[in-house]
Amino acid sequence: MRKIELNKRQELILEIVKENGPITGEHIADQLNLTRATLRPDLAILTMAGFLDARPRVGYFYTGKSGTQLLTENLKKLYVKDYQSIPVVVNENVSVYDAICTMFLEDVGTLFVVDERSILMGVLSRKDLLRASIGKQELTSIPVHIIMTRMPNITMCHKEDLLIDIAKVLIDKQIDALPVVKETEQGFEVTGRITKTNITKAFVSLAHD
Ligand code: ADP
Repeated sequence: MRKIELNKRQELILEIVKENGPITGEHIADQLNLTRATLRPDLAILTMAGFLDARPRVGYFYTGKSGTQLLTENLKKLYVKDYQSIPVVVNENVSVYDAICTMFLEDVGTLFVVDERSILMGVLSRKDLLRASIGKQELTSIPVHIIMTRMPNITMCHKEDLLIDIAKVLIDKQIDALPVVKETEQGFEVTGRITKTNITKAFVSLAHD
């Protein structure tokens, strides 16, 4: 993704192009008393980030887009498929005890419950498992399908979805994770997982990649 924070030299280049554009890289370099080669990485960053537009044999233009506009444009280039994690799944007949062990071992906060064909049956959150553990039941003998949130009440997403839309869904529904699914004749096959952590990583990538 694109770097929005600009350094001093990049700000200077923007000013020069704003005043003089279209202007060639050569002429920008002259004005700054630098070589074209020194300037090349800055010009590449400014062009990739959308501040400048480069036309062959004409030169650089100032696009006039604000930082906020560019941030929004860049946000709309982040897709689920580029940030999703591997789903951690359990069968609906495993015990609550085993699901708790899986959650710890796999270091996740949400498990997806699937049948033997990887078709989504339900979701288990940390709190679902904690709730089941409060009572005096024997955790090794309660199957997770008794306590899970089940289909069709599961919110899902697809790998082609925009991450910003998924972030809104997580907030609106007050949940931590969504299964990424593929529609098949048997039902929804679980292919991935999107969590608040994935969204946070995408957010950070906007500033640092
Ligand atoms: P926690 O319960 O640990 O705070 P969540 O906020 O993700 O975690 O889950 C809250 C409730 O919503 C739980 O009962 C869980 O089963 C359910 N849930 C979690 N993810 C989904 C989802 N994608 N679709 C529907 N229900 C979900």
